[in-house]
Amino acid sequence: MDVGHRWARHEKNRGEIVKRIVVLGGGFGGLECAIHLRKFKYDVTLVSDRDYFYIYPLSIWIPTGESEFDSVCIPLDKLRQAHGFDFVLGPVSAIEPHENQIAVGNETLQYDYLVLAFGADKVQHEGQEYFHSICGKPEDALVLKKELDRLMSRGSGRIAVGFGGNPKDRTGVRGGPAFELLFNIDHLLRKKRMRDQFTLTFFAPMPRPGIRLGEKALGMMDKMLARLDITKWVGTKIEAFEPDGVLFADGSKLESDLTLFIPANAGKRMLRGSGLPLTEAGFVKINDDCQVEGFENVYAVGDIANIDGPDWRAKQGHLAEAMARIAAFNIHAQVSGSAKRKGYQAHMNIVCVLDTGNGAAFVHRNDKRGVILPLPIVGHWLKKAWGLYCKLSKLKRIPRIPGL
Ligand SMILES: Cc1cc2nc3c(=O)[nH]c(=O)nc-3n(C[C@H](O)[C@H](O)[C@H](O)COP(=O)(O)OP(=O)(O)OC[C@H]3O[C@@H](n4cnc5c(N)ncnc54)[C@H](O)[C@@H]3O)c2cc1C
Repeated sequence: MDVGHRWARHEKNRGEIVKRIVVLGGGFGGLECAIHLRKFKYDVTLVSDRDYFYIYPLSIWIPTGESEFDSVCIPLDKLRQAHGFDFVLGPVSAIEPHENQIAVGNETLQYDYLVLAFGADKVQHEGQEYFHSICGKPEDALVLKKELDRLMSRGSGRIAVGFGGNPKDRTGVRGGPAFELLFNIDHLLRKKRMRDQFTLTFFAPMPRPGIRLGEKALGMMDKMLARLDITKWVGTKIEAFEPDGVLFADGSKLESDLTLFIPANAGKRMLRGSGLPLTEAGFVKINDDCQVEGFENVYAVGDIANIDGPDWRAKQGHLAEAMARIAAFNIHAQVSGSAKRKGYQAHMNIVCVLDTGNGAAFVHRNDKRGVILPLPIVGHWLKKAWGLYCKLSKLKRIPRIPGL
């Protein structure tokens, strides 16, 4: 991509288009923000180190073979064509907010407004080479599939599935996908009439994993684990991962032939030293408008940002999208001299369809209550339908339903 040429064109149009907006990240937050800034007719450049938008909620089906890797991706070039933003492929290597510029490889891009949306890193664990995850690099889901296939072809084994916390920030714990993976593996083994040959264990360091969904949801989850004969191993700090299991701080060990683990989110390491305000956990400090503290022309949305709100708050794709729309609205208001602003905290809730392979549970948490509603059979197909809707609507082939 000829970055220099594109910026020259932009300079020529400066009188009409006025503002150069750079969005860093092509995930839920970055893509949604670029789409909405384009609706306001700004010249937008989206930068991503992947050439595709990865639909994480659908990736839970890659390890069990129910979805192909490609079916969970949308090429960013197709999205560029559908929405008319510019796309630069490459890793952002530096952000200089006092100079209004960022570096992508050897190129420097200048901006009038910047939106940070490149997600989060993961909490590091000792022995992390001994577990597999679906929440890191997208390609890891394929490695996990290979390992699961290998174990199944052996005919028996011990599988441990868990998630971790971040003592410095509780908002990036990924419990939902861990449960989905666990239930989908259970379903696959039952379908293949192999479940009796395998032990399944769920593990987590916190004493009551999942409690942020509320007492009722936690009770239902416990019943489900018991019904499926899945052992629960919780409440002890994880010391290290080993080739044959997980070692805990009290000296106990969970033996396992295949360990699947989702570490909690941590702030992006590459932001350290950028001059941007960061929390102790490394997330970017923003106000309710999604504007970065101390920087009038820098916004942050999605997993990269520090979010405020009730104790049970959680970073999710739908919140990243809501924050993205809010940032786009507020940038436009700022550029047009309007005093109107929108805030992300009004959108704080947890919504997910927790897939079990042969059904799902609809989970919702807001300030008033936590609800978990079993949706046998139909829930699984609802989540599949959402996946199709997500792809088609992002490509502008069908209209977007507000809030979905
Ligand atoms: C397995 C799984 C299942 C999930 N299920 C759900 C669900 O059912 N519902 C829900 O609401 N949420 C779900 N989530 C959470 C949701 O996916 C995240 O909250 C969401 O992806 C955050 O969006 P984001 O744009 O902040 O970050 P991401 O989606 O992680 O996007 C980050 C983008 O930045 C790019 N990037 C990163 N570093 C750089 C760099 N240095 N230079 C250039 N580009 C860079 C990446 O390539 C990517 O394009 C799930 C997450 C996982 C992992």
